[in-house]
Amino acid sequence: MASRNRHRLDDAFYRFKNCSRFTVNVYWSTPSGLVYYNCLASEQFLDVNTYETHTWVFVNVENGNRLWADGCFEFCANSWKKELSLAKESGLLDESHLEPFRKLVKITYPMHNLTHLAMEAVRDTNISFEDVDKLEIPVTLQSDLRKMILTKRCAQLHNRECNCLTKLFKIFNHQF
Ligand SMILES: [Zn+2]
Repeated sequence: MASRNRHRLDDAFYRFKNCSRFTVNVYWSTPSGLVYYNCLASEQFLDVNTYETHTWVFVNVENGNRLWADGCFEFCANSWKKELSLAKESGLLDESHLEPFRKLVKITYPMHNLTHLAMEAVRDTNISFEDVDKLEIPVTLQSDLRKMILTKRCAQLHNRECNCLTKLFKIFNHQF
């Protein structure tokens, strides 16, 4: 997958498990955009062999919302050696564990604040752009709501590697 830097970057082995109740697209996030990798139904997992520093994101196929991977919106891979030593340090594994180590990463629904949840609910009424302007909420929230609508539209109508999804994620700056 994707890297020719094998001689410079250490291998990283993960098992991404979708612990949410949503169907999730798995993307490799590169500077030039998101590269679609696979789709995971609820409770499914995927073993991925990647490289340290490579970043992965997980997107709800229904609405473009990002999910958490071990509590982060963007999952940055460590080398398997690093993950193994972290697991031993934290007592999750004993010293005799066989190598190489494939770490389990849980994909979960994020902890959102109430504002965000309210905005998702408003978005899911299929509110129009015009009506967003009429809402008596701060302009920053109106702007975020428009982006949420665009993200959902992209997830539902465009192809999986649509560039507007990449751009919207950059604008959102890790919020979702
Ligand atoms: Zn799009």
